[in-house]
This record gives sequence, structure tokens and C-alpha cells, in this order.
Amino acid sequence: MLAMEMKRDFLSTDLQYIRGVGPVLSERLSGLLGGHTVLNFLFHRPINIKNRRMVDSISSATTGDIITVSVRIGAHKSAGFFRGRGAPARVLAFDKMGTPISIQFFNAKYADYWFRQMPIGSYRAISGKLEASNNMWVMNHPDFIEESENIDKIPTFQAIYPLCDGITQKTMAGIRDQILPNLPEFPEWLDKMVVNQLNDMTFCDALRVVHKPSSESDLDPESIARKRLAYDELLAHQIAIAITRVQKKSVPGRKMIKTGRLVDKVLADLPFQLTMAQDAVIHDILRDMANSEQMMRLVMGDVGSGKTIVALIALLVAVESGTQGAFMAPTDVLAGQHFQKIKPMCDKLGIVCDILTGRDTGKTRREKLTSISSGRTKILIGTHALFQGEVVFRDLGLIVIDEQHRFGVNQRLQLSAKGNMVDVLSLSATPIPRTLAMTMYGDMDISVIDQKPIGRIPIKTTKLMADKIPTLIERMKNELANGAHVFWVCPLVNESETSDLMAAEDRYAVLRQIFGDVVGLAHGQMDKKQRDAVMAQFADPNGPIKILVATTVIEVGVDVPQATIMVIEDAWRFGLSALHQLRGRVGRGSAQSFCILTYGMNTTPDGLKRLDILCETDNGFEIAESDLMMRGNGEMLGTKQSGWIPYHFVDYRAHRDLFRYAAHDAMELVKSDPKLESARGLAIRQLLKLFDRIDAMNYINA
Ligand code: ADP
Ligand code: MG
Repeated sequence: MLAMEMKRDFLSTDLQYIRGVGPVLSERLSGLLGGHTVLNFLFHRPINIKNRRMVDSISSATTGDIITVSVRIGAHKSAGFFRGRGAPARVLAFDKMGTPISIQFFNAKYADYWFRQMPIGSYRAISGKLEASNNMWVMNHPDFIEESENIDKIPTFQAIYPLCDGITQKTMAGIRDQILPNLPEFPEWLDKMVVNQLNDMTFCDALRVVHKPSSESDLDPESIARKRLAYDELLAHQIAIAITRVQKKSVPGRKMIKTGRLVDKVLADLPFQLTMAQDAVIHDILRDMANSEQMMRLVMGDVGSGKTIVALIALLVAVESGTQGAFMAPTDVLAGQHFQKIKPMCDKLGIVCDILTGRDTGKTRREKLTSISSGRTKILIGTHALFQGEVVFRDLGLIVIDEQHRFGVNQRLQLSAKGNMVDVLSLSATPIPRTLAMTMYGDMDISVIDQKPIGRIPIKTTKLMADKIPTLIERMKNELANGAHVFWVCPLVNESETSDLMAAEDRYAVLRQIFGDVVGLAHGQMDKKQRDAVMAQFADPNGPIKILVATTVIEVGVDVPQATIMVIEDAWRFGLSALHQLRGRVGRGSAQSFCILTYGMNTTPDGLKRLDILCETDNGFEIAESDLMMRGNGEMLGTKQSGWIPYHFVDYRAHRDLFRYAAHDAMELVKSDPKLESARGLAIRQLLKLFDRIDAMNYINA
């Protein structure tokens, strides 16, 4: 028993203790894997496979093939032997049939090293991409060079992991080969029938297959291994949801009934009429608030559909009925914007609205906290810091969570555990097909604002070949003279954040040469205070910054009505939902807005198709549906920001059916074993731990 526990602990081992890793590499890996542990590694799956075909004779292959072949080393040719500097170091070799091949190394500095690896007259197995030049077979920088008798060391099917700077496929394979043999066994948490359908493949067996595929089909999302892992992942999520639902039923809510004292005044003062969709959603919310169950409602509505006013009305109803309301935004900048909008309205109504951020310290902070605990402050706006220990409300009735997908299911659980009897309203600007939303966010009831305020001028979206960017810059000069502000987004070039930064910095330098001081730069590696300052200067219509070059890791949720141009470079690299989100940052004022999506020669057909869809429609739900259909294996950029839960093994398209099945499975289990105490329940606890749904379990234990 003890041995088993210890083996399971292996998964939480820090990677630095794996042989050959150490603290430096472990740190580098954590950027790629999102964590330091063996489990983080296991959840980072290969996305591709290289089939290294073993051939006897090079002539049986053609250029572009990846082959493994045994050769005899014939001669060494130093760089500059006859072509001067810059020529590669070359090793001339012959296969069994005597066909010559030139093995080339471009960093000629290390020629001696390579020559020592391949002494003249020795036999070597080499593996890499076959090319041809001057009527001669060529292999540049083989991926593997082994002594011929060790040809078995070269994998026939090589798993290809997503990488970052400083990490190679060999590093990843080396770590994997140490991890896989040490995987522990887990008690089976799946239902017998389900496991049967999965050919009795266990969780760890499936991990072994996915990390060491022996054919292309092993990586297919339809493969048994992937299905097993996807189902495990979905089930963990669904159980967390089911537990919340059961919990919610057992927590009494409070009846908060609209008197109209405040709400009617605000509505009368609005410079516009609510849309029918807004009205309907408000109706849903008021009904939830008025009944005695705890409200857990998610409002999904495209950017600009007018969710803030809906939230404000709910907050005012909470105040009307004698309680306090809290409005939680994912960042300080967004919290500040909400405050600026809502505060004047509250002033008019004669109720106290305040903002609390990490920047409030000392005396001001103490005063604010006192005002909150005395009940004088009626509406409090801030970030998740609102719910840390020292903030005590006199009587909190409603929490509104903006951009709820930024907060995971775990945080939602924490929140509703915090204030019992507190109603929770979540807002999301990221439409997701409704059927999926119901399972992904199944712990909440869902309302949709599927209509935009009338009179909006649709954003003109166009795609632009990257070599036309100079023309675009010319046109921008006019728009800027007319007061326009420009967002200029540069994406990650690789998975690594440094090259992301480089792209943005290069663009920043170019634009600054042309436009001067009005160009600002904001990126994820900047000091947060400094970044917020740049954002604020851009958001201010009279501020010094008119063009904001940004990476996507920065907060783009800000409202800048004078921003009318959104340029997204290499837009094809992004997923549809992410692009739609970015585009939503313009078109918020009364002027015509433009969104320009650039692409290059290297754009994939799917990438181009995504851009075309964006040019055709700005309906978020339609786009979400296409996004789902186009979602393949390849991860697209911006998934984190786009509201799709970034699952490790789940493929939204291929595993769509599994969602509903897992939801049903989870509900049945939690109903029959609410404390997870049966044999299966105990096994499920392991599953929740693996997929970081431990909060749900603490919830049960509480
Ligand atoms: P989001 O749903 O993206 O949070 P906001 O609530 O920020 O959108 O609303 C965007 C803008 O539209 C705001 O300036 C808001 O005042 C305005 N707005 C909201 N509802 C309406 C409406 N029914 N008619 C006209 N303008 C509206
Ligand atoms: Mg909003």
C-alpha cells in the first residue's frame, strides 16, 4: 500500500530530479509545460509523428523522405575545401549498394567533432531528411547518427512534441523514456462498460501509447488511447461541475426582489433603449434573484452586446433589497473602466460605489474596508482580490464575475463557498455553441444576448498580404490625422514568448520611425504598472499614445471607443474565436471601424479559410460554430483567451459526443455517491487530483 502511494507521488515529482534534467532545464520546461512536475510533462502530448522509414538503398527513397539508412563513411571534406568560407563541412558516405550521399553540417566550426563521430571506414546509421543537390543525395544535419549495430536506437516512429527555445526533441524523448517505465497503477475510475468499450486500456497505458506512438493512428483523436484520456479529462471536469450543482441545491439562496427604487431611475436616464435580448436576460436574472435558490447564471454575449448595463441592473436590485453587490473583473484595468462607468450613475442615485485594488494601501485601504464592512459601500468593484480574507462585507447579496472564463471552475467553487446565500452572475464575451456550453459550464444556467444594439456600424474586415503593409501604413496616416486610434497586434511566432516579443518590438521600432512618439508598446514581460500606464495613455482620447503595438498576452479587454483600426499581423495563426475577440476591441464608438488581418506566403489553407470566415461574418455564435468545426489537432494561437477550455487531451470536434456522455456519467455518480466514498468514488478522487479538480473534493469534505 505504502509503495503504491509512493509510486503515485512520482507524478508530482519535480522534473529537476529526473536524471539529466536539473534545475535549469526544469525551469525552462515549466514555461513549455505550464508546470514543473512529471504530471505536467505527461499532459504535454506529442502532436505529430515522424515516420523514419528504414531503407537498405537510398535509391528506393525520394527527396523529402525521412529515412534511416546504414552507410560506410568514405571521406571528410572540411569547410572551405574548395568553396571558401560558409561552405558546409561534409562527410561523404555510401549505402550498401554503393550509392553516394553527402552528409552536411553548416556550422563548420564543429567539423572536427562531426568527423570524430564518423571516422573514415566506419559504418554508421543515419536518419534525417533526404535531399538532392547537384545530382547527388544529400542529408543536412541528420537527426540521429549511431553506430550501425545500434540502428535500433533510432525510433521508427518518432513522437514530435511541441517545443520552445532551448528544448529539443531528443531532450523530450529522453525525459519521456525515464518517466514512462515508472508510471504507477491507479484503481479504475471508469465505469466497467466504458472501459470495455475502450478495450480495457488503462489511464497509464493510454499515456504510454500517446507518448510513444507506434503508428500515426495512435495520435489520432479517434484512437482508443486519446479517447480514454479525453474521457478521463472530461469526466474529472464534469464531476467537479456535478458536485457544484448538488451543492448549489443544498445552499439556500435569498429572495432579492426589485422594488424599482434605483433601477427605474437608471433605466429612465439611459441614452438608449435596451435591446430585446437585454430585456430577456434581465428577466431571467431577476427571476433567479427573486426565488429562494442560489443564482448561478452565465450570460453569454458577444463583445459590445451590452452586458455591463445588465450587470449594473442586477447589482442595483441587490442594493434595492438591502444587500451589497460586488463586481469582479479579471484585471485592474478592466475594473477601473467599470468603475469609471458605474460610479457616476451611483452618485446620481445617491449610493456609494467604490473600487478596491491591490494599489490601495495604508489609510485609504483601511477606510475602504471599513466602509465595506459597515455596509455603507453598496457596490464594490475590483479584481479577485475582492475575495481575499480581509475584505468583509456587511451583507453581500450578489457577485458579478466579468469575463468568467478567466476564472476556472475551481475559482467559481471557491467563490460560491465563500458567501453562502450569495447569488452569482457570470458574464462571458466568448460565445460557444450552446450545446457545448451547457456541458462545459453545466454548473450554471445560461442566458444569451444574441443581438447587438441597433445602429452599430459593422466593422469592415479585410485580409491583407503582408507585403502590402507599407500601403496600409500610408492609409493609416490619414485616419490618425482624423483622431483614430490603432491597435496593432503581433502574435507569437513560435510557442516561445521571446520571439513573440521580438515581433512586437520590431514592429514597434518600424512604426516609431514613421509616426514618432505616438506609438506605444505593451507586452506580457513588461512590469505590470508600466504596462497599465501605457494602456491608460492609449485609452485616453487626449493621451499621448495613438498607436498601441501589443502582443496577445497583454490585456486587450479594455474599452477604447476612439480606437477604430485593429491590425492583426499573421492573423492566420490564431483561432477563429481569438480573432473575433481581438476584433471586438474596435467598433465600440460611433465611427466606422476597420479590422485588417495580414497573412503571408506561408499561410495554411485552413488559416486562409479562417480569415475568410472573419471577413464574412461578425456574429460570434456563427463564428464559434465554425471554430468548432475547424478545430483540428493543431493548436491555434489564442486558445486561452478565447473561452474554450484548454483541455490537454480533448479535441472539441472529434470528442464532441463524449461531453454529454461524461456529463451524464458524472451526474449519476454524484447522485448515487455524493461524498465519493464507494470504491469507484475513491478512485474518482484520484482522477480529480490528477486533473486539478481537487477543489471539488475539498468541497465535499467540508
Ligand atoms: P460588452 O457586452 O462587451 O461588455 P458593454 O456593456 O461595454 O459591452 O457595451 C458596449 C457599449 O454599448 C457601451 O458603450 C454601452 O453603453 C452601449 N450599449 C449597451 N446597451 C446598449 C443599447 N441597448 N443600445 C445602445 N447602446 C448600448
Ligand atoms: Mg464587458
